[in-house]
Amino acid sequence: MEENNNKPRIGWARRTARDLLKEAGITTPPILISDIVKHIKKEKDLSVHPWAFGEDTDGIQITQGESATIGYNQSQHSHRQRFTVAHEIGHFLLCHTTNDSAFDLDSKKPEEVEANQFAAELLMPLEMFKKDFKAGMTSADDLGKKYNVSKESAWWRMYNTKLI
Ligand SMILES: [Zn+2]
Repeated sequence: MEENNNKPRIGWARRTARDLLKEAGITTPPILISDIVKHIKKEKDLSVHPWAFGEDTDGIQITQGESATIGYNQSQHSHRQRFTVAHEIGHFLLCHTTNDSAFDLDSKKPEEVEANQFAAELLMPLEMFKKDFKAGMTSADDLGKKYNVSKESAWWRMYNTKLI
């Protein structure tokens, strides 16, 4: 039983991101974090702020009961900031108890894997991404620009979803 509890719930994390996009009526990239936050705010108490963190911190999320505050590092590249906020929103909506102070894309901790999967699906929704790829947009550069993510993220997305 314990084993099951420790497995990341990847399908559920992705589905939560897809449902959120659908509810917010977002059907085309780039996915704007501000649209996502605005939608969540209709039902939940969420605030997102730029913060002067040191170099080592991407973002934090503090949940108090039903309220959450997300801070992201204002000195990082906007691509990084977008991913950070998406990741922290993931923790909030997936009801993780973690209070992030840093995150690691390679982390094997179930909550971190789930938050990263949520963020990838939110910023590069598989259905849209696949459609663009199949329509001929096969370079990480072009996909990165269209989805407002880094070239590296777009490449990993293509790789992880077996498009390449
Ligand atoms: Zn995290």
